[in-house]
Amino acid sequence: MARKIVLQDFTAHKHDHAKCVFDAVADAESICSARQERLTPIRKTVLELVWKSHKPVKAYDLLTQLSEFHERPAPPTVYRALDFLQEAGLVHKIQSINAYVGCADPGRTHQGQFLICRKCGDIAELDDASLTSRISENAKRVGFRVETETIEVTGLCKECQ
Ligand SMILES: [Zn+2]
Ligand SMILES: [Zn+2]
Ligand SMILES: [Zn+2]
Repeated sequence: MARKIVLQDFTAHKHDHAKCVFDAVADAESICSARQERLTPIRKTVLELVWKSHKPVKAYDLLTQLSEFHERPAPPTVYRALDFLQEAGLVHKIQSINAYVGCADPGRTHQGQFLICRKCGDIAELDDASLTSRISENAKRVGFRVETETIEVTGLCKECQ
């Protein structure tokens, strides 16, 4: 059965974003403890910075923002934290713009499908399992095995149209 859930709507302009951040950190704490790993202070700070908005953020900008809190951390520290968060499913990497965005439903394994507003930069995450299986089926037909699959769609959000 086709299933289409909008995990994260373009609501960034009018909602209680503090709650998004709070929920993201709470999810991260429980996911880390389920993985028997620790949400170290640097991992937590990086996660909070990624969640500062629903817009994607580049690693370089995270480094600049971090230097406002601490001594400017060594870039590898930040990249390692981002790798950890990505592996734990807490953030997604948007390849086309080489930037990161917080996952709205990190408790569940899924491939990312993203709608990216080219004007304001907001991102909505879609989850359509039928799309994922269609891609795998079509790829199999040409003898290709899919490993990761991220769909990035550019356009204009409701506010920006
Ligand atoms: Zn929010
Ligand atoms: Zn996600
Ligand atoms: Zn927009």
